[in-house]
Parts: sequence; structure tokens; C-alpha cells
Amino acid sequence: MTDLTRLSLAAARDGLRAKKFTAVELTRAHLAAMEKARALNAYLVETPDLALAAAASSDARLAKGEGGPLEGLPLGIKDLYCTKGVATTAASRILENFVPHYESTVSSQLWRDGAVMLGKLNLDEFAMGSSNETSAYGPVVSPWRRNGSDAKIVPGGSSGGSAAAVAAHLCLGATATDTGGSIRQPAAFTGTVGIKPTYGRCSRWGIVAFASSLDQAGPIARDVRDAAIMLRSMAGYDAKDSTSVDLPTPDYETAVGASIKGKRIGIPKEYRLDGMSAEIDALWMRGVAWLKDAGAEIVEISLPHTRHALPAYYIVAPAEASSNLARYDGVRYGLRKPGRDIQDMYEQTRAAGFGPEVRRRIMIGAYVLSAGYYDAYYVRAQKIRTLIKRDFETTFNAGVDAILTPATPSPAFAIGEKGAADPVEMYLNDVFTVTVNMAGLPGIVVPGGLSAEGLPLGLQLIGRPFEEETLFSLAAALEQAAPRMEPPQAWWA
Ligand code: GLN
Repeated sequence: MTDLTRLSLAAARDGLRAKKFTAVELTRAHLAAMEKARALNAYLVETPDLALAAAASSDARLAKGEGGPLEGLPLGIKDLYCTKGVATTAASRILENFVPHYESTVSSQLWRDGAVMLGKLNLDEFAMGSSNETSAYGPVVSPWRRNGSDAKIVPGGSSGGSAAAVAAHLCLGATATDTGGSIRQPAAFTGTVGIKPTYGRCSRWGIVAFASSLDQAGPIARDVRDAAIMLRSMAGYDAKDSTSVDLPTPDYETAVGASIKGKRIGIPKEYRLDGMSAEIDALWMRGVAWLKDAGAEIVEISLPHTRHALPAYYIVAPAEASSNLARYDGVRYGLRKPGRDIQDMYEQTRAAGFGPEVRRRIMIGAYVLSAGYYDAYYVRAQKIRTLIKRDFETTFNAGVDAILTPATPSPAFAIGEKGAADPVEMYLNDVFTVTVNMAGLPGIVVPGGLSAEGLPLGLQLIGRPFEEETLFSLAAALEQAAPRMEPPQAWWA
């Protein structure tokens, strides 16, 4: 039965409806694959009993010709999404024993549509990181390896468990979140497809907050069609999130395969960085040629404030994080360390509960928000944010439909290779992705080919607000043109 894990989400959906196999068989195949893949550390919690019960209910509905758009399809959930009755840790010690009494809106929509939860996926602690190495429960190992090497490679972050599980066929698709690149960068590193929708498209309710003005939910999937199917269920207005936007959710799947003739694609010169590897540049130019061949028109554009995006992001995101994480005080959730008095209890709890990267972000955030530095850092970063947004608006107003860029400045690296001496080295991974969050725009990453070392490389498309459909049709055109990528060798099984 393990070959059922080879199916795409769309093929599994069609197979279930055609009664070629059952949801219980499909779920069992994934549970067996997960059991063999524990060396990857992708799942923090496996929920086989819940999964099999849900699959049996799906089979009953399917037998009657009923069932939602995701009926019987096994998915993984990033452990930043609150799941009712199932531990939710945000990969932090401070939430070690936290079992939510509620379900996030986005995951509840997946269950409404019939999906089956396989378990909770590992991530960087509170989604802060680009390699999944900040998880309190150990790093995720990518299913990919460099040619002729058994060095452990990072899957990217913060949605490293989601990306690794999708790439290793440990689920048909996974939820993820993106504050500065956490859907798109891990998708690029693992040869998967990830879309960060427009800010406001998916409800943030019930997802552990990192930086509320930047956070968005989205899927990581094995191909563009699967991502479109998942996003349709995840998206939608929610009165419980005041930043959720009340717009109808399109049937994104119909955009996959639609013609891209005449679409105007902007190529921003500011994304060609000094010292960027030649193979990333070559990949980008191949992407340009593929879109041109499919009938798109290519235009050179300028986004002049791009180089300020990363420093501004690393002020805005920690500022919001320091405020959001104030709630973990040992009183209401998770961990509590006894102290002499209440102040001491707070301090003991937070010192024991937060890992080094989270502590760094809280300190940076508190610093840039403090009375003497607020104007110099936080206010300036907000001004830069406005300028970045304006750069994109000017481009889109000039008739550009989408923008093509590389997803990351390099392929994935080995565990322990980056950021140990200087955290900024790790932050530089996000140089092509943070602009999109700062402007609230949708961005999708698709695989473009392999690096010389045999690791996946991704291309990013950035779209106009709420025009995810355009991104799906352009991404499908890139997917069609890109060389077919074999899944990684299952060295872990
Ligand atoms: N890597 C970025 C950071 O560490 C983005 C993380 C994210 O999108 N959640 O902040």
C-alpha cells in the first residue's frame, strides 16, 4: 500500500471518488511512511488513532457519494496551528504541555471539507528561523542530500517539518505559515510548492502569533494544483480575525493550466545581488525564458527600496513578537517555574521556556520599541515598509501582472553550517521573501531545477493583492516548463 503515498493530493482525491482505494488505506499508507521516517523529525506529534477514525468516517461519507472537497485526504498540520485536544507547542518548551480547547479557523475549514489530520509538524520555535534549527525539539532533516554526501541538510524554516513531510511523502499536503518567508523558503529548499496568500486571505485566528501584521497561513504541497486545492479550503473570511478580508474565495484549481498569454511579468533589477551565486542567476533567467515561451511579456522593473526590506523586517517582526510573546508568563499557558514572588516566577518561567533565538527577538523587539529608540528604529522601519509597499503599487499600476524573482539566494545548507557565529548570516536567507510580507502581497514558490550539488532551487512569483489566481496560472506554466524532478531517494526508510 505504500505506493499510495506517491499520489498527488489531486490524484488521491480522484482515486477515492473512483473507489480505487479507501481513505483508511490511504491513511494507513501515510502512517506507515511516517513510522519509517522518524529520523527526519518532521512530526512532533503523530495522531494515528484520530487519523484512522476520521478516515473511517470519510469512507462512510464517500460510500454514500457524499463528502467535501478534501474528503479522506491525509494532511500534516504545522504545530503553530491550535488543534482542539491535541498538543500545540509552537516548537517551544514554554508551550510543552499546552492542549488547546479550540481549533484554528484554517484547520477547522480543512476538517469541514473532509481532510484527515496525521499529526503536528515541527517548525522553528515560534516560527523564528530559516532552517528549523531553533526548534526546542530538535532540527528537521531534509529528505534531500547533496550528491555523493550524507551530510544532513536543512529543509528551511520556519515551516521545515511541513516542507520535509511533503517532500518525503509523509502527507499529501501540509499547512504552513509565512511571516517573512516561512512557507516559500522551505518550499524552495525541498522542491515543493508553497504559497503565501495576500494578507487577510486566510484567518489568523487560532494560529500562535509571531508578528501579527505580517503572519499569513498557506499550504505547502507537491505541485501547483495541490496547493490551489488546499488554499481554497484554507482561505475565507472569518469574523474572529479583524484583519481577515471579506471577499469570496475563488476556485483556485481552475486557474491551473489557464493561458498566461499577454501577462506582463516584471523582472526587478534590485533582486540581482552582489555575490549571488551564478546558478541562482541562471535559474532566474531560465524562469524568464519559460514564461516568455508560454506567451508572457517580460519587462524590466525597478523596486528601489528593496535593499532596506530585510533590516526593516528584522525590526518590525521582533517588535511585534516581543509584544505577542508577553502573554507567556507562566500564569495562563504551558510552562511555569516556581519563583520567590510573582515577578521572579515570570522571569524563571520565561528564561527556562524560551530558546536563544526567541530571547534574541524579544530583546531586539523590546529595544526598538523602548522610549528612547522608538523613533529611530520602529518608526523608521514602518516608514520603510510604506515605501516598499509603494514600490510594488507603482509597478502594478504600470500594468505589471506579476513579478518573477529567485526564491532564495542559495540552495539549502547543512545543519550547523550557518548562523552559529552570526545570526545575521541566517537572516540573509530571507532577502527575497520579506518584501512580500512587508507589502502584504501574495507570493508563490515553485521548483525550477536542481543545483550543481543536486539540491532543489525555487522560483518566486509575486502578485497583486488578492490575485492568487494569476499566480497559480503562472506557477503552473513554470512547473510545466521546468525539468521533471524525481522525489528524493528514501535513504531514511
Ligand atoms: N526567517 C524569518 C524569520 O526568522 C521568517 C520566519 C517566518 O516567516 N515565520 O523571522
